[in-house]
Amino acid sequence: MKIIPLAFDSLGTRSMATYVEAEDCKILIDPAVSLAGRRYGYPPHPLEIKRMDEHWAHIKGYASISDVLIITHYHYDHHNPEEPEIFRDKIVFIKHPREYINKSQLNRADFFLSQIKGLPKELHFSDSKEFTVKGAKIRFSEPVPHGPTNKLGYVTEVSVFDGSYKLVHTSDIQGGILEEQVKFLLEEDPDFVIIDGPMFGNPLQNMVRVILRTKVRMFLIEHHYLRDLKWKDKLKELYIEAEKKGVQVLSSAEFLGLENDLLEAKRKQLYKEYPVE
Ligand SMILES: [Zn+2]
Ligand SMILES: [Zn+2]
Repeated sequence: MKIIPLAFDSLGTRSMATYVEAEDCKILIDPAVSLAGRRYGYPPHPLEIKRMDEHWAHIKGYASISDVLIITHYHYDHHNPEEPEIFRDKIVFIKHPREYINKSQLNRADFFLSQIKGLPKELHFSDSKEFTVKGAKIRFSEPVPHGPTNKLGYVTEVSVFDGSYKLVHTSDIQGGILEEQVKFLLEEDPDFVIIDGPMFGNPLQNMVRVILRTKVRMFLIEHHYLRDLKWKDKLKELYIEAEKKGVQVLSSAEFLGLENDLLEAKRKQLYKEYPVE
């Protein structure tokens, strides 16, 4: 199985866009990228905007060769209603647009559906379902809350299995604080996990549980957790447990052999180093 993180917080934007090749099936999970509105009192720095444009071009390139596009929920860092052409002739699996959804995402889902109307070859509501496409088994969790409560709505976690190797991409479960979020990971027993991590400072014990109780060997922590420059400090205990079990815990950038580049967390510094008129 080939797994390529395309755009992630460790690479400088808000996204969890991931390209996967399983058997003959090419899959793109959450083809979208965005930036934090204001942080530390500043709007996105031009360098962040440049990075976002680069990431979007990268994502579109992979979308064009993909058979399957997946949308786990309707936040703009996970779906992009503005360039619906990428969905033309694709098999598209989307989070149910009307069930287990909050008001804001309901409206966005509605708009998204009107934008992509008539474009996909197939369109499926994915929640709790399983599909086989070109030899790859793609399974979706039941809708689970986006974080510790359902205030921000619900997401679907995604599992991709090629018959011998399995990836789980959790989408935005914020580290899996709730039992219903972590259940999918424990049940699926994946080899490779991409998890969004809790908001910085929140408990990590369910991530440790997944490391200890599944056959995972590669564990990428990303997204919410990488919006604070001190993110590594609080991972010490998790690194120790992971090392004992021979599990690699990395960011997407580290997995790709690149330096972490947390542009959002460095925003204030960016304005200092590269002032904007
Ligand atoms: Zn989200
Ligand atoms: Zn997100």
